[in-house]
Amino acid sequence: MMSFREPSIQAAEETPAEDRVLRPQRFSEMVGQRAVFERLSIAVDASRKRGDVLGHILLDGPPGLGKTTFATCIPRELGTTLQIASGAALSAPKDLLPYLSNASEGSVLFIDEIHRLPIAVEEFLYPAMEDFRIDIILGEGVSARTINMPLRPFTLVGATTRAGLISAPMRDRFVMREHLDYYTVADLAEIVRRSAAKLSMPMDDGTADEIARRSRGTPRLANNRLRWIRDFSTSRANGLLNVGIAQTALEMQGIDEIGLDGFDRKYLETIHRVFGGGPVGLDAIAHTMSTAPDTLEDDVEPYLLRCELIIRTPRGRRLTSRGEEHLGKINPNGLQARLF
Ligand code: ADP
Repeated sequence: MMSFREPSIQAAEETPAEDRVLRPQRFSEMVGQRAVFERLSIAVDASRKRGDVLGHILLDGPPGLGKTTFATCIPRELGTTLQIASGAALSAPKDLLPYLSNASEGSVLFIDEIHRLPIAVEEFLYPAMEDFRIDIILGEGVSARTINMPLRPFTLVGATTRAGLISAPMRDRFVMREHLDYYTVADLAEIVRRSAAKLSMPMDDGTADEIARRSRGTPRLANNRLRWIRDFSTSRANGLLNVGIAQTALEMQGIDEIGLDGFDRKYLETIHRVFGGGPVGLDAIAHTMSTAPDTLEDDVEPYLLRCELIIRTPRGRRLTSRGEEHLGKINPNGLQARLF
């Protein structure tokens, strides 16, 4: 008999209590990403009105921009249940079986990091997504038989930080594909104000703007920075909060005026100092920094590219003049000064 791993029905149990408090529960609580929000709202509304099962949805974009939040709001809007799985943990088709057989009609199955599914699992998913059935092979060799198992129609919501790694047949099976982009300072300031209210923190507009400017366009970082500022304010400022206190707290964490942290600057400095500004390959940078290329590609580079501090060329990464200027500004004693 095959042994099945019990699916985690809701990751909420595993996330710290404050994350749960800060994460929007309904579409109406979500800030920014208006175009994506509008399209998803229409699809959800239409499926609810017609009583149809919502089509499969692929969400992509850098970490911390709201993919999980959208995915967890969708079933609440539909009034249905949610199962959460991670692509990295689904190593064989049998790992998917409990999720697929548990899926009730019209429910949502969220697979995070869907680009990490092994090809065998991906191929197992195709008929499940397209025809709501799976083919199970029983036995081995000449006595092997294929059993066709029907599933209850469900909605798959996939999330990925690497849309480029999703195979074309997989991508084509998603009815909607939505890309989440970095947030504007105004949207992030609104998120900071809402989160501060939930955490019972004082917050004036100037301070919210300053935290937003230093949050790398990312709601998760805005919330993390806000929580650190709250700790700093409690421990060092008698619970007071203003722009100066927020700046001091963030500078203590090495976060500069455009929101880059020490690791981002170490990346820029490596290209500048070790590789003469580039062009240089990703692996060489990762090797020099003793880190994984994936970490740089997922977490560091997208924002630096977005800010035009670096560019990607066919021959590798290059620091732009804006990138050099930024290093000079935070390191006024000269670009040769070492950051690490
Ligand atoms: P991802 O899945 O893309 O890595 P999450 O959905 O986990 O990102 O978002 C991280 C946190 O940022 C959430 O817990 C939530 O508090 C906050 N957040 C994300 N998107 C929004 C949004 N549109 N409005 C308000 N808060 C958001």
